[in-house]
Amino acid sequence: MRLFPRSLGLLAALQLLPAGPVTAAAPTPELILTHGRIFTADPARPEAQALAVADGRVLAIGDDQTVAALAGPATRKIDLKGHRVIPGFNDAHYHLSVEPRGAVQVDLQSLDPGWPALRAALLREIKRTPTGTLIEADIGATVFNDRSVDRDALDALSTRHPLILSTLTGHAEIRNTPALALAGITEQIRDPLGGRYERDVRGRLTGVLREYAVIDADRAMADVTPDAEASRQLGRQLNEAARYGITSLQDMSNYLDPARASRLLAGIPTPIRVRVIRMPGTTPSGRNIAEGRGVAPHPTPLIIVNGTKWFADGVALESTMLPRGTHPDWRGANFDELVRELPPTFPDSELGAMLRESRSDHEPLMVHVSGYPAAAALLRAMESSGGPAAWADKRVRFEHGDGLFPDLIPRTKALGIVVVQNPLHFAVLGEDVLKLSQPVRTLLDAGVPVAFGSDGPPNPYLNLMLAITHPHQHSQGITREEALIAYTRTSAYAEFAEGDKGTLAPGKYADLVVLSQDLLTVPLAQLPATKSLLTLVGGRVVYDARQL
Ligand SMILES: [Zn+2]
Repeated sequence: MRLFPRSLGLLAALQLLPAGPVTAAAPTPELILTHGRIFTADPARPEAQALAVADGRVLAIGDDQTVAALAGPATRKIDLKGHRVIPGFNDAHYHLSVEPRGAVQVDLQSLDPGWPALRAALLREIKRTPTGTLIEADIGATVFNDRSVDRDALDALSTRHPLILSTLTGHAEIRNTPALALAGITEQIRDPLGGRYERDVRGRLTGVLREYAVIDADRAMADVTPDAEASRQLGRQLNEAARYGITSLQDMSNYLDPARASRLLAGIPTPIRVRVIRMPGTTPSGRNIAEGRGVAPHPTPLIIVNGTKWFADGVALESTMLPRGTHPDWRGANFDELVRELPPTFPDSELGAMLRESRSDHEPLMVHVSGYPAAAALLRAMESSGGPAAWADKRVRFEHGDGLFPDLIPRTKALGIVVVQNPLHFAVLGEDVLKLSQPVRTLLDAGVPVAFGSDGPPNPYLNLMLAITHPHQHSQGITREEALIAYTRTSAYAEFAEGDKGTLAPGKYADLVVLSQDLLTVPLAQLPATKSLLTLVGGRVVYDARQL
């Protein structure tokens, strides 16, 4: 990957405001932070030195002297020693995962391993682990496009260990026979709407699963994972997020039924704020629209349950529903063309139904839209069901939005759509294959709100670097400040929570992170190594590196 540091000129535009603090109320603060460099994401006061917290919210923010003067005898004081502080990250698109206990992940340190190396690694794990251990590995185009790698090839390695090869995007899997059984998949199974169990010429399952078939299989395995184990896995992921400085996580709940997610998260309890978003599967007869109905919207102060996410298409790297091997290998292809041709998952009638359900249930709608055809189809469906007058304030989300080519952007803006992009995806492609796909700069210039989520390993600093550099389409890179705002303020907007979070301003939640290095000035290549020294949620320390 090539890195192109961008101008740091915008830094000069950030003023250190000398004015006194803006105070929301007059209680004594429980906590005061001083001597920091606070990036507030609040246009009214972009920079500050000190911040006071009362009742879990920002009481005052401003210069050291005036904020320090608010301290009472019981106020805890932290000297930030010049460290950069930002609002806590809000990862707007994450998947909290639950897997069978003891599952082993083979890591070949490659985005695109070859089959001989992968095969050898799988055999090593098979030898090393007890019978029945689930062994998983991520694969790229080389193995996925090799049609000799199928259920039988994996069965030849072991029929006593479930083996799952999962494409990097998570939209396709190759399973051996025990792994099919683990998800309750039999030869009699029928394809779910928008998903496929691939079969050979005789009609026998090849072990390849696509789209909603993957969603259903992952759910089936999570469903039989006991609560105690599932809670342990969730807790580990939430603590990892806190360690990164993520204070809000918007979870696309495909692994867990929202009722179960809500119950388990409340019982852990979660250190950070979690929004549980319904992400139901499908059956042969349609989308499971009943899932998650009746779940309490605020089971605990840190948990909120709302919104529904569907796929409108798949991923250009694997072309979704085409039989494996009939799709051009993207490594030599023009990614824009693949994006332009990516077929939608559902007929247009389903998009219209999603919009009707969202309006009648007052439920925020999130749609995975990667290709151009699905983006165009959803824009058409919104325009023909009320247009901007009906939709501009509904903040319908396009998750990814890779195929928002220039002709679609004014319509996207007019309909009030929020694009939630995942900068990690910018790094997966080869060189110089993008001209139009994965826009960010163009969207921001057109006034389309862009929020960020990781949709994978949750390192926000790596995602920031990729958003700033946009390594394969440099003209779409954005400034550090814009990237930070996308990950905080706009992610809050994307969940209708900008009144409570996303900026550090009086009255907002005291959700913030103290950083090991100043990500507004550190050389870009070092940005991913940034660490949280202290992560606060509602003024409470949820991660402390013990360096302050
Ligand atoms: Zn996702």
